[in-house]
Amino acid sequence: MYDIIIIGAGPAGLSAAITARSRGKSALVISGPCADSGLYKAPVIDNYPGLPGISGAELSDRLAKHAEDAGAVFASGKVTSVLTSDGGVSVGFGSEFESGRALILALGIVQTQVFPGEAELLGRGVSYCATCDGMLYRKRKVVVVALAPDAHAEAEYLRSIGCEVTEVTSTKIKILGDTNVTAVEIDGAAVPCDGVFILRKSIAPAALLADLDIRDGHLVVDENFATAVPAVFASGDCVGKPYQIAKAVGEGQRAAFSAIEYIDKGAD
Ligand SMILES: Cc1cc2nc3c(=O)[nH]c(=O)nc-3n(C[C@H](O)[C@H](O)[C@H](O)COP(=O)(O)OP(=O)(O)OC[C@H]3O[C@@H](n4cnc5c(N)ncnc54)[C@H](O)[C@@H]3O)c2cc1C
Repeated sequence: MYDIIIIGAGPAGLSAAITARSRGKSALVISGPCADSGLYKAPVIDNYPGLPGISGAELSDRLAKHAEDAGAVFASGKVTSVLTSDGGVSVGFGSEFESGRALILALGIVQTQVFPGEAELLGRGVSYCATCDGMLYRKRKVVVVALAPDAHAEAEYLRSIGCEVTEVTSTKIKILGDTNVTAVEIDGAAVPCDGVFILRKSIAPAALLADLDIRDGHLVVDENFATAVPAVFASGDCVGKPYQIAKAVGEGQRAAFSAIEYIDKGAD
């Protein structure tokens, strides 16, 4: 078990990792491809103190090396589930799970669109990961809502294990069913199925963890960067504007300090 799991390898997440390590806490950073972070996309940065003219890619590489040299562990993958318990958090990405005493969400600007029926039927026919849940739907009818670059490959994987796959790229989607998914309405037409894989580039925080408080598209945190869920902290663009690197770095550090305090109180 790690002390702190951090989702996101932008400036907020990497700053949190550096701070966690400087206080002797183990830290796992889980992230999608680095090119997905807002930082990596910035061609030239002229307002980060001390490093005028640096490119986003170079700053990203330097921050990642700093965190790695400090002893942070890195894993790549899209986190699709977070479970909390008294003992901490458990985070699912791909077919892997890791657990930690505290979690810091540093997701960047997050998409918040959730289809009607999606949250209600999550885990009861709605899935975000074919690799993790595909076998549950072997030889059954599934719909793949393909909104990420790797979605077609995931649909092919489902076909390879015998699923009857309907692949769609529409965003006019409604998930139907009372206790389990029975159909997906696509552009007004119902397609009967046993499961639906919604494969987006990023996952809406509300879909990761239902009890998070979200306002105007941002995660709500208190002055200590704690979310509404115990053991879960958040920082950077996902908690609000201005969307700036210096802000993200400072908030990542503060979220890490709060997570450390939370862990140390529990250990008393
Ligand atoms: C083109 C461009 C130019 C910019 N120029 C500047 C500038 O000059 N100066 C400035 O201060 N700011 C600039 N910004 C803004 C700045 O890049 C952001 O404010 C900053 O990167 C936010 O940091 P962050 O850590 O919150 O998020 P990000 O840097 O966006 O990092 C988010 C991380 O979360 C990961 N992630 C998200 N969801 C998941 C999931 N479910 N599972 C696993 N990983 C996940 C992503 O892969 C990524 O690693 C610019 C942004 C852009 C796009």
